[in-house]
Amino acid sequence: MSDYKLIIATGNAHKVEEFEQLLSGINFEVCSAKICGGMPEVDENGDSFVANAQIKAEALRAIAPEGAWVMADDSGLEVDALDGAPGVYSARYAGADATDQANVVKLLEALRDVPQEQRTARFRCVLCVIDEFGLISHYDGSCEGTIAKRSKGDSGFGYDPIFIPVGHNQTFGQLGDSVKAQLSHRAKAAQWLKATLAEL
Ligand code: IMP
Repeated sequence: MSDYKLIIATGNAHKVEEFEQLLSGINFEVCSAKICGGMPEVDENGDSFVANAQIKAEALRAIAPEGAWVMADDSGLEVDALDGAPGVYSARYAGADATDQANVVKLLEALRDVPQEQRTARFRCVLCVIDEFGLISHYDGSCEGTIAKRSKGDSGFGYDPIFIPVGHNQTFGQLGDSVKAQLSHRAKAAQWLKATLAEL
């Protein structure tokens, strides 16, 4: 039986499972926002990953049971040749309801004339945690790489088929989940959070 509850600010069951695994073995029970009646609708209009993660965490805390901790994540892709775009707009780069494929096509088009050595990029993830007293903290993780010339592989989601992590010559789409779980921006942010929570 865990002493603490950590409620994840998402309506996505897959994300809850992912964090359950990443944060396993500590004195926290990882729960979905369902225990609060579901994740409230929020306008993710912040201009940074930190701001957006905090908007989501605060919205959930407003309806969370007393004594619970809450956590929200925000992530995206920053491409150097595009001055950090798509960044906080990663999910809606090609439009409000854009598919992953439309976002990938738009990015490849934007980088069409950019040579391989200038196609550096990184995935970034920020976790915002609010403890039972309302104290806010942030944890970040990043994964450096380059953007491929063409989409390759069908594992993962989002920009995975065009992102080649440093130290590899295949995309996350080709490398698959187990390699990604070692290297990803989300895994790194979660490892840092886990180390902090494990000290409680
Ligand atoms: P979210 O904040 O986790 O919802 O991520 C926002 C957007 O960033 C996603 O819709 C993807 O386009 C992109 N993204 C974030 N993490 C990843 C990843 O691990 N692989 C591929 N794309 C990602």
